Amino acid sequence: MALTTRKSLSGRKLMCIVAHPDDECYAFGGALALAAEEGVETYVICLTDGQAATNRGDAATSEHLGQMRRDEFADSCKVLGVTRHELLDYQDAQLEFADFSRTACLLVERIRAFQPDVVLTFNSDGGLNTHPDHAMVSCFASTAFHWAASAKRFPGAGPIFAPKRLFHVSTNYFLPERPAPLPPPYNIVLDIRSVFETKLEAFRQHTSQAPLMEKTKAIFAEHGHSEYYTLAAAIDPQPAPHLTSLFEGL
Ligand SMILES: [Zn+2]
Repeated sequence: MALTTRKSLSGRKLMCIVAHPDDECYAFGGALALAAEEGVETYVICLTDGQAATNRGDAATSEHLGQMRRDEFADSCKVLGVTRHELLDYQDAQLEFADFSRTACLLVERIRAFQPDVVLTFNSDGGLNTHPDHAMVSCFASTAFHWAASAKRFPGAGPIFAPKRLFHVSTNYFLPERPAPLPPPYNIVLDIRSVFETKLEAFRQHTSQAPLMEKTKAIFAEHGHSEYYTLAAAIDPQPAPHLTSLFEGL
């Protein structure tokens, strides 16, 4: 579809909160690339630098791997057209032990400052690979979405702000040879065919994770042309809508 035929969403903002470098493209790459094409300002926050990854490239130490993955995350965000990205200092594979209040506050502060219309994150099923860090980032980000709008929560973290929609990522398939998640019923199917190559190119920036890409190539080719989301919260009471865009009707 030519860009000129798309409705411009210039002035709209999307925040995506993830756990590891590569989540931004693996789980949310289509949504982020589409948003960038439509003129949406995007901000990706990643909580850890992925030091506990199984695939370690040529990293000699965990710190070295963390640094490599920080660079890969930055390159991937660039390919996806992400306006702003930030990688925090939480320990990979340890998010379940992170201080809940402190982490929620840190995200509330960023939501209030950026003022996104839409927030994207994982569901507490942990996503396709049921990673506990994905479940935890869902808890932190979803709570922060609600608390950003509450004057009673973290009054020192900036003026209150209510984003309009919170989406959790879902799926219509499972990974073979992996325990299956219990995914939330989705009510939005994003057609990402127009940005599918961009999503793959973003994944290729994660050179330390190349074996993962090789492993998931076939399943990506079969299922990767759509992304599935669930509207988890909205600014107005409403029945679950069927949407074709994260911003439809806003
Ligand atoms: Zn992850």
